[in-house]
Amino acid sequence: MKFTPLKRWVLCCLILILWVFGIPVWAGEEGVVKGRVVNIRQGPGTSYQVVTQVKSGQVLAVLDSSGSWLKIQLSSGKAGWVHKDLVTVRQTAAAVNGSSEQKYLQVTTKVLNVRSGPGTGYKMVTKIGLNEKHAIVDLKDGWYKIQVGTQQGWVSGNYVKVLAPASNTPTTPVQTPSQDLPKSVIITGDIVNIRQQGSLESAVISKVYKGQSLAVISKQNDWYQVELASQARGWVAGWLVEPSAESVPARGDSADNEVLSAPLADQKRFSITERGNRPVLNLEGWTKDQIQVTTDSSNKTVVLTLDGSTKINYEGKIERLGILDLKIYARDNKAVIEIKSTFIPALDTTYDDAKKKTVMVLNIGTSKGLTGKVIVVDPGHASVQPGGWLDPGAIGPRTNLYEKDVTLRIAVNLKNMLEAAGAKVIMTHLGQTELSLAGRAAIANNSQADIFVSIHANSSTQGLSGHTTYFYAPWGDEFLAAQRSDRQKLATLVQNELVKTVGRKDMGVRESNFAVLRETRVPSILVETAFISDSQEEILLGDEGFRQKLAVGIFRGIQSYFE
Ligand SMILES: [Zn+2]
Repeated sequence: MKFTPLKRWVLCCLILILWVFGIPVWAGEEGVVKGRVVNIRQGPGTSYQVVTQVKSGQVLAVLDSSGSWLKIQLSSGKAGWVHKDLVTVRQTAAAVNGSSEQKYLQVTTKVLNVRSGPGTGYKMVTKIGLNEKHAIVDLKDGWYKIQVGTQQGWVSGNYVKVLAPASNTPTTPVQTPSQDLPKSVIITGDIVNIRQQGSLESAVISKVYKGQSLAVISKQNDWYQVELASQARGWVAGWLVEPSAESVPARGDSADNEVLSAPLADQKRFSITERGNRPVLNLEGWTKDQIQVTTDSSNKTVVLTLDGSTKINYEGKIERLGILDLKIYARDNKAVIEIKSTFIPALDTTYDDAKKKTVMVLNIGTSKGLTGKVIVVDPGHASVQPGGWLDPGAIGPRTNLYEKDVTLRIAVNLKNMLEAAGAKVIMTHLGQTELSLAGRAAIANNSQADIFVSIHANSSTQGLSGHTTYFYAPWGDEFLAAQRSDRQKLATLVQNELVKTVGRKDMGVRESNFAVLRETRVPSILVETAFISDSQEEILLGDEGFRQKLAVGIFRGIQSYFE
């Protein structure tokens, strides 16, 4: 982001006005850091120098505010500025009752309304349940103001008890008698959090996916205590699962992370686990001669036909593992599993008939066109600057996400896919580089690479979003003009596949005189994957699943180029 002279002038006036009139409302408030790592700046704006960084959960006393920025006190005693979206502001305990001890209350009724003000006339903000505990931030007319997650609200003092400061340990839950317990639950939400305790406020310890089944240990209020594949225990919300009388088959000895688990019939289970970004298909309860496998490389599909029918009828996808469509259904008294992936599939299968266990690692099948191709992948930015710091590229304004970190993750994902398909990949760097932009291009020129692919995230002050792919081949440059059709073709195929696979807005193929495109002697493209400046895309770019999807889109475009 850049400040035009006008914007800088407006900002200065704003700061002056706020400084002259002052806003002392922040006394007695503190900010809890929300972002993973958050910059503290010298002044209220991203144009000010970063003085230090703070980490998630750190508590900072609020001294003042200016626009969207808060002046805070660091533990060193020095002051700095932080954007208010990056912290949760709450009242200090001292502001509540003059004591430095944080007080908590516990709910004594089944369901309690939390309201926007101290009285039943105020509108409801949320509901809390029996035995839930919340920090008290204020007290007025017999009503307590409490902190619920990131929001605050008021509850009537008639339905709570204030806890002595020492007894903030979780209370014994109300247990449901075991005869009422289902044997297992099947996850019905797309991605569901497993928490340490049965409350939305409790820490998330794991995530499970739609279709997965988990053994039930106990139940408390609307929450189930479940056992995960890792044998760790946690709590899942009752409204995101379907109770089942079937017990979960005994776990295999696989240490892979389980993504999906489906009991197809009694003592027969199909599951998908994850091994280093590759999906692994596990079949338990069948011998080799009861499993029929067909692979269709033109449709990028694997079909498993298993002896014995199933009552399960499932359709879903696991995009981060390259599974675009997964179907489980019954046909002619057999269970059929159809997996359509983003790549030509190849199975590395291990049968163990004694244990009736089959493990299939779903790999990218070598693609004829990609085998032996040399591809230079360039993660944008991270050049060492005078003074030793790294050029971060654009910075996400909400989560402080650095473009250089995003481009590296996408590039590494892309490298893994290209290598799995038989290509030779050269990365221009793996996190930092002393090379100039021409130096990055030279890697491709000196290694006689087939193509050069530079990965970036875009930034705009005009609210733009979506994918853009750049090439450069001006008619005036004889050498580059001779590659025009190849360069344009590569850019077009990658752009098309990005739009098809990832589905953000199509900002088109563009031609621009970027140094890495101008200096490369081999066909080259620069992919602006998405806009880090866009509120939605900044969040997406911070997500590994989305970055994986972007890599899949670029991979497929490159695959088509060599076909
Ligand atoms: Zn960039």
